[in-house]
Order: sequence, then structure tokens, then C-alpha cells
Amino acid sequence: MTNQSQLTFEVYASRNIRLGDLEIARALPIRERKMVGPWCFLDRFGPVAFGETRPMDVAPHPHIGLQTVTWLLAGEVRHDDSLGYKAVVRPGGVNVMTAGRGIAHAERTPVENSGQLSGIQLWAALPDAHRDIDPAFESLAQVPILERPGGVIQLFSGTLEGTTSPAPHYSKIVGAEVAVKDGATLILKLDPDYEHALMLLDGDSTFEGRALQERKLYDLGTGRAAAALSSKRGGRVLLVGGPPFPEAILMWWNFVARTPEEIATARADWQDQRRFGEVAAYPGPRLEAPDLGRLAAPNPVS
Ligand code: MN
Repeated sequence: MTNQSQLTFEVYASRNIRLGDLEIARALPIRERKMVGPWCFLDRFGPVAFGETRPMDVAPHPHIGLQTVTWLLAGEVRHDDSLGYKAVVRPGGVNVMTAGRGIAHAERTPVENSGQLSGIQLWAALPDAHRDIDPAFESLAQVPILERPGGVIQLFSGTLEGTTSPAPHYSKIVGAEVAVKDGATLILKLDPDYEHALMLLDGDSTFEGRALQERKLYDLGTGRAAAALSSKRGGRVLLVGGPPFPEAILMWWNFVARTPEEIATARADWQDQRRFGEVAAYPGPRLEAPDLGRLAAPNPVS
């Protein structure tokens, strides 16, 4: 039995990042917390209405050694990649791109859109045994839904309470949006071997009596078999987790690697138009890699 008083509960503020015209709250990585399980990156974007801000338009850029997971609360994002995949993700669905040894993609608001955007992008680091696999892409129109007395869980990645989302992952992992009904409490059953974190996405919610605030990451650590979320007026909460990642990773720009040499090679391959291919469906120029500098981490473009 874990002593309740030893359980982690830490609150971390996000960093504000500008991605083109979009204001982003970056919850991972931050100085205090590099990863939650295999999750090594978490951006919260929106909610925004176009008119006050311009739509999303992230030009082609490369990735290695990770999976990107795009989950929306409102609006839509079109993905195009160097394998030729094209997919528009909407609320309820998920886009999971496996970079493996290398892929390039672009993400933008499609021409026909709802005029709004709200969502998250996560990256999961690939473990050593799988990080050089072939790149791949999967789009699910609707992820598994777990109906509970206190609300509804949409499981976009990994396994929760015996249900597994069909998009492939290469470590034990969980990623879910938990919608808590107004006036209700929802009990999540957790794997105590996982570390978990929460983020309030909208509405209101309390975790074990503590009010959650938007754009903050609530680190729950390992050792929890359950988490109780309550809401007064209804709220949506992000749950992420997985076993502590057993390998030290090196993140630079949009690359997850192990050594500076791998990063330098990936950067050179992108700049010299090797390895990654081109995103033919994107009508503009690709992004240039930042200067390598001293491997001080430039902001990823997500
Ligand atoms: Mn990307």
C-alpha cells in the first residue's frame, strides 16, 4: 500500500509560446518536468475564433523518434505528410503520426472550417527498440468512448480501465479527455505503475477537493490506483500517463533522439532534402531548421 501522504501532487505553469499567429500554452517539456510517462511534449492551443486570430498554418517540418497526437475540443486541423497521407481531425477523432526514423508533415486549418480552434498536441517519445521504425500515420474518426456515471471518457491513446485505443503506441501509455457532468464526480481507475498528470481543458473541475486551473499541469506522480474528478457546472480534463520512461532522451526542435550527433544528422538531412521526403500537398515553402548552435533547445513548431 502506498501511503496517501507520500503521493505526488505538484502544479506547474505552462510557458506561453507564439506559433505563427497562435498563442500556445506549452505544458511539457518545462524545466521542472520533462516527461510524464512517454509523453515528452504537450501544447494547448486555443480556444480561438478566426477573425481575432488567423487559422493554424504550420508549414512542412520534420520529426524523428516520436509520435505526434492531435486531439481537438473544437474546430478542425488538416494533416498532410511526406508519405502522402491527408486527414482532417475533428473533435472525437485523433491523428496519430509515427515519425520513426523520419517523416515530414504540415498542419493547417482546412479551407472549409467552423471558424474556431481549440485542442492539444502531444508527443510520445519512441523507445529505443522502435525509434527507427518506418514512419506511419493513422487517423481515427472516433476514439473509444467510456460512459461512466459521472461523465464520459474519450480514450485517444493507449489503455485505460481495460479499454485500448486502436491507434498504435510503442510504450505503455494513456491519453484521454475526461468530461465530468455538472454536479457529478467521476472516478478514474488508474494503473499505479504509471505516472499521471491532469490539465483542465474547459469548464470547471476539482481533483480531490482542489480546484484545477486551465493551462496548468497537475503532476500526480506514480502510485495512484484512482483519481476522483468533480465538477459544479461541467468540465473537461486531460489525463496523460504511462510508466516512467526508462531512457534519457534528447529533444531539439522537432527531433527526439539520444545523442547530439543524431540531432545534427537529422537537421542536415532536412536542410539537404534527404531522408524525410516532401509534403507535396502543402502549397508553400517548408520550414527551415534553426541553427544548431550549442544544442540549446529551440522551440519546437509542433
Ligand atoms: Mn509537427
